[in-house]
Amino acid sequence: MIGGSNDAALTSWCESAQGSDFPIQNLPLGIFSVGERRRRAGIAIGNYVLDLTGIADLLDEDWREDLSQPVLNGWLSRGPHAQSALRRRLQELLSDGNYRDEVEAQLVGQSEVRLHVPCLIGDYTDFYVGIHHATNVGKQFRPDNPLLPNYKYVPIGYHGRASSVRASGEPVIRPRGQRKAPDADAPEYGPTRRLDYELELGMWIGQGNELGSPIPIAEAADHIGGYCLLNDWSARDIQAWEYQPLGPFLAKNFLTSVSSWIVSAEALAPFRKPMPPRPHGDPEPLMYLNDAKDRESGALGIQLEVTLTTEKMRSDGRAPHVLTRGSADAAMYWSAAQIVAHHSSNGCNLQPGDLIGTGTLSTESATGLGSLLEISLGGKQPVGLPGGETRSFLEDGDEVTLKAWCETEGAARIGFGECVGRVVASA
Ligand code: CA
Repeated sequence: MIGGSNDAALTSWCESAQGSDFPIQNLPLGIFSVGERRRRAGIAIGNYVLDLTGIADLLDEDWREDLSQPVLNGWLSRGPHAQSALRRRLQELLSDGNYRDEVEAQLVGQSEVRLHVPCLIGDYTDFYVGIHHATNVGKQFRPDNPLLPNYKYVPIGYHGRASSVRASGEPVIRPRGQRKAPDADAPEYGPTRRLDYELELGMWIGQGNELGSPIPIAEAADHIGGYCLLNDWSARDIQAWEYQPLGPFLAKNFLTSVSSWIVSAEALAPFRKPMPPRPHGDPEPLMYLNDAKDRESGALGIQLEVTLTTEKMRSDGRAPHVLTRGSADAAMYWSAAQIVAHHSSNGCNLQPGDLIGTGTLSTESATGLGSLLEISLGGKQPVGLPGGETRSFLEDGDEVTLKAWCETEGAARIGFGECVGRVVASA
């Protein structure tokens, strides 16, 4: 793409930026700390974090208060124009050699920082827009009728729990709960035997809406402050026993991991695609979910990958095993804008810093399945790992890494970084 903030020809004097997840065309925002120092806002550039507090006098005076907070809610609430202006200013500072000395002094190595959840999350909602995931899971319960009749009309979601959303790297303590084997008369309480990951994208809400005022579909994309990776850790045995009639509860809310960098909609612009055509015979979306521009460019061309290492693989020095390789655009039946429009369509107020998960993103292909529940067919077909181990579900010591990146001709490749979690035994 020529010109504008996504110009592929633009380069930074920060040499590690070129070819990394974080070139000058990405510039995701995050919250970091070094040692015991207070949390502050930064952006990722190459192998570094640029401390925005440290370069405050090079930024618009009006931005300083929001960018000096330990969370980004205030900044994101300013909406896309402010984000775009900051992005352009940072591109200037990181490409123009005249600023190099002053800006370079505020770069911190990414290996030296701790990254945090970037917002104070008021509410977390998880959707279920991955149609192949919904079909695969539905088949395990209802082989002839995997999708329920509402699926193609309503973007399905449930309210999750904000307090247990943590940044990448947080240990996954194997949850305990009620599990009931299909042939048992009664449940028992103990550590889950069917711990799983779910490959998802997260959306951070920027500008909110007033209670009672739905966000029109045409404006919905502008309410998304940015995107991250999200792992909705799930205990399948607890889930199977507890989910009826009100849906997921303790099977999901023991931990949700997010990647810490907020990748902006503007950085993702070159990678947008038309929504995949709805299969023949599917209903048209109802008017409040139907928008021509969203149909043309509402899909996210984001490549997704999940890898696994076990304790044994790490001690044998083996490379991570790829469990999943897929893409968001091939997985999502409903777009990000449709999710936001639907969530507010009853007047529910979204607030800056709210987190919304897409739901598990599986592609149609067997190599693009976003959970072990699907890969192992509910535990019936364990996955073989290098070194001879097998897995139906996660065992203690297993480490799951989600990655995402975007690439297309004429644009600079950008990445999301990682969302990692290692399973530890129940306390
Ligand atoms: Ca989920």
